[in-house]
Amino acid sequence: MKRRSFLTAAIVAALAAKSLANNCKKGKVMQYPLTPLEYPHNALEPWIDEETVGFHHDKHQATYVANLNAALDSGFKFEGSLTSLLEGLEKVPDGIRGAVRNNGGGVWNHEFYWLGLSPNKSEPSPELLLAIEKSFGSLDGLKKLLSEASVKRFGSGWGWLCVDFDGNLKICSTPNQDNPIMGETAGLEKMVPLLNIDVWEHAYYLKYKNLRAEYVKNIWNLVNWKRVSERYEAAIKDKKATL
Ligand code: MN
Repeated sequence: MKRRSFLTAAIVAALAAKSLANNCKKGKVMQYPLTPLEYPHNALEPWIDEETVGFHHDKHQATYVANLNAALDSGFKFEGSLTSLLEGLEKVPDGIRGAVRNNGGGVWNHEFYWLGLSPNKSEPSPELLLAIEKSFGSLDGLKKLLSEASVKRFGSGWGWLCVDFDGNLKICSTPNQDNPIMGETAGLEKMVPLLNIDVWEHAYYLKYKNLRAEYVKNIWNLVNWKRVSERYEAAIKDKKATL
């Protein structure tokens, strides 16, 4: 496996394994599942309200799943993980590449988003905190920069904290449902995501209306630093192993 594929695949190994287990139905076209949330719809209150979580997961994410499956049903033989599909968009036939990019990206980004949030407080690991301080001065410095990138994203999209392939933490944002694992097919620098913030209006509008900055400010109360730290440590470990 190529170094980059290995690195990103390791980060989301659990996701990929779960997806494969759910997807491999003998004799049927592979159908990607709507992955359930780890917590109830009201678990992220008061920062993200129950109604928003319900619509966001059960309606918006479900629609990306349905549209991804419709695209994959066109005859394209997809046997890997969703991650490998998005990493290799150039191998997807022209006729469905846009649909896979938008809807496959939509599914991946939302699964990653929910897993990066938790009602339970946690802190970055010492290793991650050290990397954050090296790159951004402090945890508050990271929050400020990622909040700015997310709030300033014009229209719909995402803010991201990533590790690049030199092991540096980086902040970026993407439009629509693009993400940093897609690489150059989506015009992006390929990186390993650690945390994402959904700034589509559907992520906050029911509660915050036009106040995207308020939603972004409050989402820091929900970040699952335990998982972000695990993602970081896996990325660094595998990078070392493959250098
Ligand atoms: Mn969303």
